[in-house]
Amino acid sequence: MKMMMMTTNLLNHPTMMNRFITFLFKAVIIQSYVINFKIFYFQLKILKLILFTDIMNLEMSLKGGSINLIIGCMFSGKSTETMRIIKRYKTLGSKNILVINNISDNRYGESVISSHDKQQIKCISLSSLNSIKTQEIYIKAQIIFIDEAQFFTDLYNFCTNAADNDNKIVYVTGLNGDSDRNTFGDICKLVPHAENITMLKALCMICKDGTAAVFSKRIVNSQNQKLVGESNMYIPTCRNHFNN
Ligand SMILES: [Zn+2]
Repeated sequence: MKMMMMTTNLLNHPTMMNRFITFLFKAVIIQSYVINFKIFYFQLKILKLILFTDIMNLEMSLKGGSINLIIGCMFSGKSTETMRIIKRYKTLGSKNILVINNISDNRYGESVISSHDKQQIKCISLSSLNSIKTQEIYIKAQIIFIDEAQFFTDLYNFCTNAADNDNKIVYVTGLNGDSDRNTFGDICKLVPHAENITMLKALCMICKDGTAAVFSKRIVNSQNQKLVGESNMYIPTCRNHFNN
């Protein structure tokens, strides 16, 4: 009752009324700051969690050698995923990155790895991986990316040595199998040696309804396993359309 009377008196006095309104206004501003700060702090915690998880993964992988496989059928986004990881390492300041492509894959020109949507990153094109083992570019490299890895006949030997003996972080990108669903090159031999295996999928070009595709179906007549081609030679399909 006494409090109510005081408030009424305050509101009846013009100067006091102004002060009271100013006080209320300030209180609302301070409160909104507190609420915003809580939201900001919450967002900060989520961000820290995301960043910390990423950095932890990279710190763990930077401690020693590792083999990381990125496999999938044609048009499953393997090169795009490889480029995403390269960019992430570069963003974190990693400088000793070696990117290798097979010399026979010159669909987009030599010395570039390229996604089907024409994103490109510079690389060195080689026919043999072991040919660079004594070169400075290999010795200095901490992280090595190998694109179209199924074409390298010395892939198994190179990758296991690089990870086990030279402490390199090796990313191997290539096909999960050939167009007859046989193993292609050494990629499958690296499975027991790999810390991480990422299996990517495309979309079935015959279903065309979002059904996942995991097989590369050859649509031209050729018995050559190493037939480098694009959508005019291969389409990604689901199991049903691979068989029919
Ligand atoms: Zn299908």
